[in-house]
Amino acid sequence: MDPQKPAIQRIAVIRGDGIGQEVIPQAVKAIQAAGAAVELTEFDWGADRYLRDGITVPPEGFAMLARDFDAILIGAFGDPRVKTNIHAKEILLGLRFKMDLYANLRPVRLLDEALCPLKGVEPSDLDLVVLRENTEGVYTDAGGVFKPGTPDEIATQEDINTRKGVERIIRYAFEYCREHHKLDGSPRSKVLMCDKSNAMTHAGGLWQRVFKEVSAEYPQITAQHMYVDALCMHMVRDPRQFDVIVTNNMFGDIITDLAAGLQGGLGMAASGNIHPGKTSMFEPVHGSAPPIAGKNLANPFGAILAAAMMLRHMGLTAEADRIEAAVLEAVRQKKTTQDIGGPLGTREAGEWVADRVAGEKER
Ligand code: ATP
Repeated sequence: MDPQKPAIQRIAVIRGDGIGQEVIPQAVKAIQAAGAAVELTEFDWGADRYLRDGITVPPEGFAMLARDFDAILIGAFGDPRVKTNIHAKEILLGLRFKMDLYANLRPVRLLDEALCPLKGVEPSDLDLVVLRENTEGVYTDAGGVFKPGTPDEIATQEDINTRKGVERIIRYAFEYCREHHKLDGSPRSKVLMCDKSNAMTHAGGLWQRVFKEVSAEYPQITAQHMYVDALCMHMVRDPRQFDVIVTNNMFGDIITDLAAGLQGGLGMAASGNIHPGKTSMFEPVHGSAPPIAGKNLANPFGAILAAAMMLRHMGLTAEADRIEAAVLEAVRQKKTTQDIGGPLGTREAGEWVADRVAGEKER
C-alpha cells in the first residue's frame, strides 16, 4: 500500500441530473462489490436542488471537495426545467475550472467487435487515448453580443489559449505516453497533436510552437500532427493508427464523441478530469440524456468504467481490474442494456456487473 495514502480513501459522489441519477448508483454498487477501501459521501448538487433552493454549489463547495476528498465521481448535469443550464455550468465547469482539473483523459477501447460500427475492426485495433485541455478554449465563455436582436447583431466567442495551459496538457500527454502501456502490454509510442492551425492561426500557432518544444524533450516518442477535420476522417477510415491524441477543449469534446461511437456509443465511454496531485474527478462521457431519463434504459457501463478509472487513479488497481473485467464479461455475454444490443435495464445490467465483481457469478 502507498504509505502516503490513508487506509480508507474518501470519494464524493454527485449523481446530478437525468440518467446520472440512474447510472451512478450502479457505479457505486460496483465499487462496493469490489470491496474497495473507500468511504462514499453523496451530495445532492443538481437541477432538483437548484429548483428547490436556488443553490448550484454551496459556499466553499469546491474548497471542501479539494480538502476532504481523494476523488469525485459524478453523473451528468442538464435538465429541461432549467432553461439557462446555469446549474450545469456552475457545477460541471466549476469542478473543471475552479479545481483546475486541466487534463481530461478519455480512453477509447473496444470491448467487443460487435460494438463497433466499422467493419473489420477488432478490440486490438482500437486502444487510443484522447487528452483534452479542460480549463480554457471557448468554454471560458469569454465574448459577448452587441446590438442583440437587431439585424446588426454581432456575437463574439473568444478562444482562450494560455502558454501555461497549452504546455501543461501537451506535457501531460507525453508523460502519459511514456508511463502507460496499451491493453495488450505493448508500450505506447506516439503523441499526435490535433488542431486547426491553418485557419485558427493565432491559437494554433501557439499550440504548434509549444508542441514542437515539448516533443523535443521526448525523443523516444513519435510526435505527429493532424488537422481536426482530417483526424475525423481518419478516425472513421482507420482508427488503428492512433495512440495518444492531445487537443484543445472543443476539438476534444467533438472527437471523443466520435470516438465513443467507435466503442459502442456514448453509454460505453468513461473519462477522468485530472490535475496530478490534486483531488480529481471522474465521469461518464455522456450527458443527462433527458429523452431516456427515468426509464431504466440508460447504459450504466460508462459510469461503471469511470468508477474503475477512478479507483485505478487512487492506486486501487486490483479493484479497478475486477470491475473492468466484469464489464468486459457482461458485454461478451450480452448482459447489457438495449443501446448495445442486450435485453437488460440499467439496474439489471449494473447488478449483473456488481455480482460478477463480487464473485457471485460463475466463472
Ligand atoms: P451533453 O450536452 O450534456 O453532452 P447531449 O444532449 O449532447 O448532452 P447526451 O445527454 O449524452 O447528449 O445524450 C444524447 C443521446 O445519446 C441520448 O438522448 C441517448 O439517446 C443517448 N445516450 C447518451 N448516454 C446514454 C446511455 N448511457 N445509455 C444509452 N443511451 C445514451
